[in-house]
Amino acid sequence: MKNIAVIGAGTMGNGIAHTFAQNGFKVNLIDVSEASLKRGMDTISRNLDRMVAKEKITEADKTATLANISTFTKILNGTQKADLVVEAATENLNLKLRIFKELDETCDENTILATNTSSISITQIAAATTKPERVIGMHFMNPVPIMALVEVIRGYNTSHEVTQTIMELSKKLGKTPVEVNDYPGFVANRILMPMLNEAIETLYNGVAGVEEIDTVMKLGMAHPMGPLQLADFIGLDVCLSILNVMYNGFKNQKYAPCPLLVNMVNAGKLGVKSGEGFYDYSESKKAEKVSRQFK
Ligand code: NAD
Repeated sequence: MKNIAVIGAGTMGNGIAHTFAQNGFKVNLIDVSEASLKRGMDTISRNLDRMVAKEKITEADKTATLANISTFTKILNGTQKADLVVEAATENLNLKLRIFKELDETCDENTILATNTSSISITQIAAATTKPERVIGMHFMNPVPIMALVEVIRGYNTSHEVTQTIMELSKKLGKTPVEVNDYPGFVANRILMPMLNEAIETLYNGVAGVEEIDTVMKLGMAHPMGPLQLADFIGLDVCLSILNVMYNGFKNQKYAPCPLLVNMVNAGKLGVKSGEGFYDYSESKKAEKVSRQFK
């Protein structure tokens, strides 16, 4: 395995490209426009600068990492020599089905096709291809260069060989892979999202305020970040969509999104990315309590 293609240069895609390139792989980073590729490459460069400043890598490592990445605006051009494609495009079922159909038609038959989806069924994505045994979930955590876990998700038809290859490859990136089966939310989000939803429900029921709930979980459970702040960082729209996938997938009330979460998403309060969620990020960029509604 030497040549990796990464589809999507957003939050996750640029982190995945960074991580492969820093570990000596040749990476083709693909996005729909030059502007999104530039944004992705600028982020990688800034993150490498931070690592140099912390003396985790040298300036030469930074140069070598950037030299390992080439950029493309067409999937066809960027994936031709790939041993592995990691798709990290926008979380949208129809988009992913379209991308995997194209990959199936244009990639070498031995190319492994991985998706970084947070919640869409690997089995369903694989069904858009003629060789579902080579399709797998490779679920990195954000921020990719820092977080140690890769959730390796076997679809219904994913072969043992492909699973083993991705497990070994994840270790070569310095990550710890965990193999899981393909059911809604996999493991990470199946456990995390109900906890975040319960924190929102606790707020909705008026049991405590935003800071109080987060403080209980930070100081009482040694969580590095409170659940409401974490939900803001993930994006409330993303949390809602993952909860809906689990709610619809299991047909179980326990995954039903809290009405407050639904309201906030409908109101455009999506967390950090929109400037306001449970906290206000608009002015000082520091997390400030949105007390207006809940106190
Ligand atoms: P993002 O919106 O930051 O980036 C998505 C990128 O995909 C954008 O740059 C967009 O231009 C690009 N894109 C859209 N259509 C494309 C196409 N046809 N070809 C090439 N590129 C295309 O999203 P993200 O947060 O990086 O999420 C990407 C994937 O990773 C999603 O499946 C998401 O569920 C998953 N994921 C996200 C997180 C997270 O914390 N953000 C964590 C784990 C997994």
